[in-house]
Amino acid sequence: MKVVIIGNNISGTFSAQNLRSLNDEVEIEIYTQEKYPYYTRVKLPELISEKVTIDDLIVFKENWYKSKQIDLHLNKKVNKIDPNSKLIHIEGENSLIAYDKLILALGSTPSIPPIKNAAEMKQEKKGVFTLRSIDDALEIRDFIKKSSVGTAIIIGGGLLGLELANQIKACNLETTVVEFFPRLLPRQLDEECGAMLKEEIESRGINVVLDAVTEEILGNGRVEGIKLKDGRKFDSDIVLIQAGISPTIDLAKEANIQTNRGIIVNEFLETSEKDIYAVGDCIEYKNQIWGIIPACMEQSKIVAASLLGLKNVDYEGTTPKNTLKIVGLELTSIGIIDPTKEEGGAWEILKKADKKDCCYQKLVLKGNKLKGAILFGENKALSYVYNKMEEDVDRDELKKLLELYAYVCNNCGMEYDEAKMGILFKDLPPDWTCPNCKGSKKELKKKSNS
Ligand SMILES: Cc1cc2nc3c(=O)[nH]c(=O)nc-3n(C[C@H](O)[C@H](O)[C@H](O)COP(=O)(O)OP(=O)(O)OC[C@H]3O[C@@H](n4cnc5c(N)ncnc54)[C@H](O)[C@@H]3O)c2cc1C
Repeated sequence: MKVVIIGNNISGTFSAQNLRSLNDEVEIEIYTQEKYPYYTRVKLPELISEKVTIDDLIVFKENWYKSKQIDLHLNKKVNKIDPNSKLIHIEGENSLIAYDKLILALGSTPSIPPIKNAAEMKQEKKGVFTLRSIDDALEIRDFIKKSSVGTAIIIGGGLLGLELANQIKACNLETTVVEFFPRLLPRQLDEECGAMLKEEIESRGINVVLDAVTEEILGNGRVEGIKLKDGRKFDSDIVLIQAGISPTIDLAKEANIQTNRGIIVNEFLETSEKDIYAVGDCIEYKNQIWGIIPACMEQSKIVAASLLGLKNVDYEGTTPKNTLKIVGLELTSIGIIDPTKEEGGAWEILKKADKKDCCYQKLVLKGNKLKGAILFGENKALSYVYNKMEEDVDRDELKKLLELYAYVCNNCGMEYDEAKMGILFKDLPPDWTCPNCKGSKKELKKKSNS
């Protein structure tokens, strides 16, 4: 049996590796339009600031593929799939490539919001960029070096936008992040933690503008700045757009494979066409797209087993896990972080917000199950949270882990439980009084078993 995989990043490569570990005999060929073997995109912002080299990013060199008997074809763009004759066509070549089973690991590309001049100025290389590949990073690096760039705007205050801003700042540019929503990391943080993160980012010399709907990129021959919908203008020599992703679906769509926002798959990662599977950033499953590495890894295992007829595990979706990778800034967001947007009752939040130490920890429970967490400025609870997601947890154990305590009023027995109150006892003002008996703060003592 011959399996052809289109796309050679994490999803394509790990699908091939998983196939090989399940079966010695299957022929595996990978085609990718990029010129590099599998490299990590995670450190691309550091390629711009020259903290890493291309070599540092390559995860598996070409020898790795040889050792696994996987045929890797670089610089090959597939421009047509014919599901009826089970053939693919490579751009600029006459011969067709046959497959028995095909895996689409086509990934995604950065979305460009409807901003006047954005797409054109990016296309014409006038100082508007997105970051997805090694070549994008090199282009941005060279533009900064050669075009006497002093100021930069990053459109998008999500994870990638902030990580990029941090590295752009490291290139000694005056750096501004503009975010459409009223807080940074709108998908990963609540309002309170978003505000703490904003302070932290600004303390690193990066400007943050929220509620900022970019209407137009200014400049003619090259970028000169941006204009917001509310009329505000910001000068800039380069504009970097990091505003979400669009799954790559054209190839599938043209082959009449069912698509929506992504390539539609079922729980075995089968597309609507027989013997064609899809995996990674390009898929849509139950109306959801992921765009994160843990989902690619999980799906790569399932697609390999499913393709070989070992349908013992089906895909149930991947819990979103995101970590901001900025040195000295601990931030992880996992699963459901805002229960008000969820259905059903019995939601509970345990929260520790220590503004003085810039530390915020929020655990979201449904019944006894841990459903989500935000851990900012302190990651002692991180491995516990990773291990216990979607499992039953003990509230007292959680409170200990977060160092949340209960205090009891000596006069009236009223209990001040930090986990429920949202303000640490130490942060209450000195003139605070017990809401029950009006006794002073000093009347409350830490509960011995809390
Ligand atoms: C800067 C950056 C930082 C990131 N950091 C994180 C992080 O910290 N944590 C995290 O979980 N995720 C992160 N991500 C997201 C993560 O990199 C993606 O989820 C992952 O790369 C998706 O892998 P994939 O193999 O599905 O798709 P892709 O990585 O997009 O790879 C698809 C490949 O297929 C090729 N291809 C597409 N069409 C064709 C065709 N017609 N012919 C041939 N080849 C084709 C593409 O060129 C590409 O090389 C980051 C992404 C970026 C850009």
